[in-house]
Amino acid sequence: MISRHPERPATLIPLAELSARIGSDPLLIQAAGGNTSVKAGDVMWIKASGTLLADALQRDIFVACDLPAMRAALDAGTERADQPAEFALVEGALRPSIETSLHAVFPQAVVVHVHCVNTLALAIRADAETALTRRLSGFDWAFVPYTKPGARLAALVRAARGEMTDVVVLGNHGLIVAAEGVAEAEALLRAVVAAVTVAPTEEPEVNHTRLAARAGDGFEPLPEGHPLHRVATERRLCDLAAAGSLYPDHVIFCGPGAAILGDDETPKMAVARRIGEGFPPPVFLLVPGMGALVRSDASSGARALVRCLGDVLARLEGGAAVTHLTEAQDRELSNWDAEKYRQALNAG
Ligand SMILES: [Zn+2]
Repeated sequence: MISRHPERPATLIPLAELSARIGSDPLLIQAAGGNTSVKAGDVMWIKASGTLLADALQRDIFVACDLPAMRAALDAGTERADQPAEFALVEGALRPSIETSLHAVFPQAVVVHVHCVNTLALAIRADAETALTRRLSGFDWAFVPYTKPGARLAALVRAARGEMTDVVVLGNHGLIVAAEGVAEAEALLRAVVAAVTVAPTEEPEVNHTRLAARAGDGFEPLPEGHPLHRVATERRLCDLAAAGSLYPDHVIFCGPGAAILGDDETPKMAVARRIGEGFPPPVFLLVPGMGALVRSDASSGARALVRCLGDVLARLEGGAAVTHLTEAQDRELSNWDAEKYRQALNAG
């Protein structure tokens, strides 16, 4: 019988330090995204849903889970496997991350999952696996095409892993690395990130006076040098962003895809048109050829994902085709109770 009050393993201290470091790097983690975990015997300590990795040194973000029970539920393929709260050992305000099952399928003690923008610039591509193979040849890695985070994705990760695989790239989602220790996990993370990193395209010239003239109705221009201006000013990227969503947290924090501010539209008209088309009110607006606007009252989480879209697309190789999430995939993300909980917690 596992203790309902498991002792905190010493590894949680270096894991919290690593979590805070990666959590404050917007090229690795945005908002409440990503998670870290450590297994100690039958207990897995994992970042709680809705908490920020960046806060790991200021508050306790880890919750203890019953690892054998979670693995048994995954093996049995029961619905319970998709309810990580069921496996929490300590009843409290925090729930285990919705991605807990992804960590449970790794035999290694330490698992780090990030939404690395350099990885995403490859993982959103239609030829993601080929493009990644060119860069990750020295690693024991696997690629898993997009599936909504949860038990089904965890099962696919488990099936794709070889016995020693310690790097997994999730299509249209992110990166997982695993190791026996925290220092080894960080070294592996840094090595993979170095292998996939490319320089962003050059910053565009943005006429902020002209852009400001298109603002209003609760929208303001993003600051100078913001990466999303690139997306608005480059036709190809603007079209790609408007065509649909590229990874889950974008849908969760910003709604599906991207809204364009038409030549003859005010922000208010664009918002009304989007709502009429069945979308939530947009957090940001792309003004083609000019730059990007953001809602003045956008949450810090939404702002982090607005930046992420610019950071990812600024690293997309010229001419590369991308895979968007389907409308059904967008919908299953936005109607997801666990995510609503996470959004509510993040907004508070
Ligand atoms: Zn994730």
